Amino acid sequence: MSETTQYETVIGLEIHVQLKTVTKMFCGCGLSFGEPPNTRTCPVCLGLPGALPVANAEAVHYGLMIGMALGSKLADRSIFHRKNYYYPDLPKGYQISQFDEPLCLGGQLGDVRIHRVHLEEDAAKLVHVGASGRLHASDASIVDFNRGGTPLAEIVTEPDLRDATAAAEWLRMLRTTLRALGVSDVNMEEGSLRCDANISIRPVGQAEFGTKTELKNMNSFRFIERGIRAEVARQTAIVQGGGRVEQETLHFDPRTEQITSLRSKEEAHDYRYFPEPDLTPVGITTEMLDRARAALPELPLARAERLEREHGLSEESAHLLAFRSELGDYFEAAYAGNGGVEPQPLANWIANELVARIGADVDPKDSKVAPGALAKLVSMVGAKEVTGAGARQVLDKLVADGGDPAAIVEAEGLGAVGGADSLGPIVEAALAANPDVAEKLRGGDMKPVGVIVGYVMKETKGRADGKEVTRLVREQLGL
Ligand code: ADP
Ligand code: ZN
Ligand code: MG
Repeated sequence: MSETTQYETVIGLEIHVQLKTVTKMFCGCGLSFGEPPNTRTCPVCLGLPGALPVANAEAVHYGLMIGMALGSKLADRSIFHRKNYYYPDLPKGYQISQFDEPLCLGGQLGDVRIHRVHLEEDAAKLVHVGASGRLHASDASIVDFNRGGTPLAEIVTEPDLRDATAAAEWLRMLRTTLRALGVSDVNMEEGSLRCDANISIRPVGQAEFGTKTELKNMNSFRFIERGIRAEVARQTAIVQGGGRVEQETLHFDPRTEQITSLRSKEEAHDYRYFPEPDLTPVGITTEMLDRARAALPELPLARAERLEREHGLSEESAHLLAFRSELGDYFEAAYAGNGGVEPQPLANWIANELVARIGADVDPKDSKVAPGALAKLVSMVGAKEVTGAGARQVLDKLVADGGDPAAIVEAEGLGAVGGADSLGPIVEAALAANPDVAEKLRGGDMKPVGVIVGYVMKETKGRADGKEVTRLVREQLGL
């Protein structure tokens, strides 16, 4: 392949979501939230001989809700398989997972098709202790079985993503959807949402996929983007050097940007899957489906469509408010308290000015700016009672101390200077002070009108409306 060949990236994601059930997937142990190690265990999740699993109905319920939210085809009957492999975090020597009869098949979220969603149990947590650690041995791994047996939904996408940013963005959309469902904490740092990325490259225009590698367990959105980029760069260098990408499972170290091989990729037959003989098939009844359907909240994509339809918001704004649900809630509260406000400017003020002041990670309902106060401020801008610049100053005050925008405008003398009566003389003075500019304007060249606007803004301390000033300039010059 020549050096000028352009490559396209192909990505499919496998996402593990810890389900927020009361008990574990196959036993009565409660889920663990930082309890002392090995205090949430029983013979079942420790894999002791003779202990028998029972499938958690609440996990099946959550799995059905996820499938419905993703538009999957839900199974009538679903069965569990044993996935056999040896590792210290897996006391039975196998993981109970699903194989050829998963709970949900197919589906779609945004532009990405879903391959399947199945249920399984989480492994225990390995804690690696080095020479300076608590153990005296020079190096050791100790096992905390509290996490072992936690219910997981594994969501597998089709290879529909084409770059690292799109992958991270899509994962955010999935996270918001799962959060709206209330089935998981979906916290990447804490491990309740974990993502493996399957990555390949192919020459642009080629239909067949290239050989993929799998980047394991990235635990933040930033690392996912960086990891995928690093892996694409690695594969591109291999192919451009005349080599071939090996199918393997890889680890990305975000500190060093190094990618290392964990193992050559295993095939399904390596796991010797067979049906779990200790569990009966799960029959999905109409009652179960009805219950899952009734539990579905309004999902972010549906909310985005509704915001567009009901309020005439742009697609971009509607999407942002729907997928940052705290902004959407704030918008709807502000709108409900002030029917006169224009929805699109309100959305813009929330998404831009308010978020810029309180920070992207703060829920605006926890700020000092009451939704009604922002709605009022935005309507005052609409009614030209205050200019955009003046309103931004008012918002600074609201963010710092709260309060009523009209009172702040009054107290700070931020009311707009408008109309021919008050602005006219200032525009006249501006033209008189800039005869060369006035000359150009008269000649039909409107470019230097900014000089006049600037002069008026300075005189009015930013309380004039630029458009109004331009209109008065035209009027006074008879243009
Ligand atoms: P495997 O049998 O190796 O597990 P699957 O076909 O089950 O592979 O796919 C696992 C994941 O890898 C899915 O998310 C899928 O979309 C993705 N995937 C499959 N082939 C490719 C490829 N060539 N490039 C990138 N991702 C891929
Ligand atoms: Zn247990
Ligand atoms: Mg697979």
